[in-house]
Amino acid sequence: MAGGWSRDGAVQDQIDASVEDAVTLARSRLPVGEGLTHCEECETAIPDARRKAIPGVRLCVGCQSEREKRQTALIGINRRGSKGSQLK
Ligand SMILES: [Zn+2]
Repeated sequence: MAGGWSRDGAVQDQIDASVEDAVTLARSRLPVGEGLTHCEECETAIPDARRKAIPGVRLCVGCQSEREKRQTALIGINRRGSKGSQLK
């Protein structure tokens, strides 16, 4: 069974390559790097604890909650809109 080794090796190489591709793809979808040291909106320093808790964080607590409020409001409007069209 001399050929067995090289065949197994080739298969393993293919598996390694596809795992590597998947990891690269997954990484490209995640927030880049460690995030910002200062808020991108108001330039307040973001505490280390917050940056560790939220990898790739870009906003301070205040701006983040403002942004979430705005997003929630938008989602609320969209939900009402789609519910209305479903009910007609
Ligand atoms: Zn801010």
